[in-house]
Amino acid sequence: MKINVIGGGPAGLYFAILMKQASRAHQIRIYERNGPDDTFGWGVVFSGKTLANLRAADETSHAEITKQFEAWDNVDVVHRNTKVSIHGNSFSGIARLQLLKILQRRAEQLGIKIDFNTEIHDIESLRNDCNLLLAADGVNSTVRARYANRFQPELDMRANRYIWYGANQLFHGLTLTFRENAAGVFAAHSYKFNPTTSTFIVECDPQTWEKAGFERLSAEDTLGYLGEVFAPDLRGHELLSNNSKWINFLLVKNKNWFFDNVVLIGDALHTAHFSIGSGTKLAMEDAIALAESFQHTASVSESLAQFEKTRRPVIEDYQAAAFESMRWFENARDYMHLTPTELAFVLMTRSGRVSFDDLKRRDPAFIQQYELGTDLHGSKTDIR
Ligand SMILES: Cc1cc2nc3c(=O)[nH]c(=O)nc-3n(C[C@H](O)[C@H](O)[C@H](O)COP(=O)(O)OP(=O)(O)OC[C@H]3O[C@@H](n4cnc5c(N)ncnc54)[C@H](O)[C@@H]3O)c2cc1C
Repeated sequence: MKINVIGGGPAGLYFAILMKQASRAHQIRIYERNGPDDTFGWGVVFSGKTLANLRAADETSHAEITKQFEAWDNVDVVHRNTKVSIHGNSFSGIARLQLLKILQRRAEQLGIKIDFNTEIHDIESLRNDCNLLLAADGVNSTVRARYANRFQPELDMRANRYIWYGANQLFHGLTLTFRENAAGVFAAHSYKFNPTTSTFIVECDPQTWEKAGFERLSAEDTLGYLGEVFAPDLRGHELLSNNSKWINFLLVKNKNWFFDNVVLIGDALHTAHFSIGSGTKLAMEDAIALAESFQHTASVSESLAQFEKTRRPVIEDYQAAAFESMRWFENARDYMHLTPTELAFVLMTRSGRVSFDDLKRRDPAFIQQYELGTDLHGSKTDIR
């Protein structure tokens, strides 16, 4: 089978690897507009369950990925300068660039051709020249826009703003930090992803953003402003920019997932708010599901139909949970009157996927603290 892939992100690379692994006879070519070392952002997170899926799909890349991991089991919530830790949540972080390098190496080992620095404009020619065109071209997918009448995308630009920084302060857990000033409420989502660096995403609502005057602030002044807001958490470290800019989260859904020989995958197909940290996981698990559907039949149309049938309910479930989580952060200011422990509890249960009983099983001490209505386990400014 001849397969053209637009986009060399996690979805495109991983699908190519899995298909080539299943049959060396496939001719697979990936077109990527960036160079091999260009990337946006800092680290990404995987849960223990996702790692098991990656292991079952391709042991070689799984072994490489886990060698580079930073792992933790706690979610830390910081509110009113007090940190509350909830244990029993298995997560790992890796630099996005590291992940891409591992997948690029594995793809090249298997004989997959990657054309870097090649932006595709003429999609129709590429589609006519293959049995399958995989649109793995990310959240602003050109393929989705080109065939919008076929895919019928639903795009919902949300009002909150966020900006993706790094920091050399290490956050030894998935840390959700809330800081208030005269402008409003700022939330930071942070976690370490290598021995020296953490991802540090700042999010705020549009009222806070306007009142803080970010529209008029330069990139440098924005960095300085947010560095001040989170000074107690950064402990003398500066925020690090990677050409970081404020963005609005774009919620992507598609009525149709494929037509003829073209299929959407990863962020091009769907997005889930970063507060449940699942974009890369979903992209790679899409690749697994799609490659599996080709194991059962050689027919492209049957495989694509099978992919949608098995994967759509999973994605809808995730998007529903991510939507609740996103709404929580959009309304974060309504929860600031809660004590740190109360806030930690509502945060942990915000998406409706983690219950009181789940938390009791994972971390009985936290639930005891919650039931007693105390903040005994919260540690004042103990943010190491
Ligand atoms: C603030 C923030 C935090 C996040 N945190 C996490 C996290 O903690 N964990 C997690 O799992 N995910 C996270 N994500 C999401 C994650 O980055 C994406 O969901 C994931 O990268 C999707 O993979 P993908 O392969 O579908 O798309 P992408 O990684 O976006 O890859 C698409 C590729 O296509 C290329 N491309 C696009 N158009 C063309 C074209 N016309 N021609 C050639 N190439 C093209 C692009 O250059 C890009 O390399 C986060 C995202 C954001 C914004």
